[in-house]
Amino acid sequence: SGSAVTPEMLDGMSKQSFPLCMRHLHETLRSTHHLKHGGRIQYGLFIKGVGLSLESSLKFWREEFSKNMDIDKFEKQYAYTIRHNYGKEGKRVNYSPHSCMKIINASVGPGENHGCPFKHFDAAVLRQKMTMNRVPQPAIQEIVDLVTRHHYQIACQRYFEATHNTEVDSGIQHPNQYFIESQKILN
Ligand code: SF4
Repeated sequence: SGSAVTPEMLDGMSKQSFPLCMRHLHETLRSTHHLKHGGRIQYGLFIKGVGLSLESSLKFWREEFSKNMDIDKFEKQYAYTIRHNYGKEGKRVNYSPHSCMKIINASVGPGENHGCPFKHFDAAVLRQKMTMNRVPQPAIQEIVDLVTRHHYQIACQRYFEATHNTEVDSGIQHPNQYFIESQKILN
């Protein structure tokens, strides 16, 4: 993981280099100022992997959540999970960001935004989201076909290729791998 990543950098990075699962969580958090538990864990561990320190992470979540609730409530009910992600609470395990397999196999209930969009979105929503993210239409069709055959990680690889205008030879195994590969191409 990198260093000196600040919360202000996440908007730009999410557009350029986040896989669809994490871009969706970031945009949902920005627009609703909230994420349910599964989303806080999945996204919180991912941005830790991207290089956000615990302090930066707390600042980021606090700023967003406090648009809709008292800082007090945030500190009492939500700061714990963030510190927990960094091994500062509970069993003090330094948790790793989730792999694609773990995310794909997660159960996602109504109103929850974690999981893998290629697995958990319905086709119409997936198409709409990819159109908004300026994926060319032929690639969208290819991706939807892959999804129909349950090839979620290959679909993600095609999404990467279509949005970075490049070809990659290995599949996507981990959202943080996706991020690192993207940053290599862009920097
Ligand atoms: Fe995220 Fe992995 Fe799904 Fe890609 S395949 S959207 S990185 S969970």
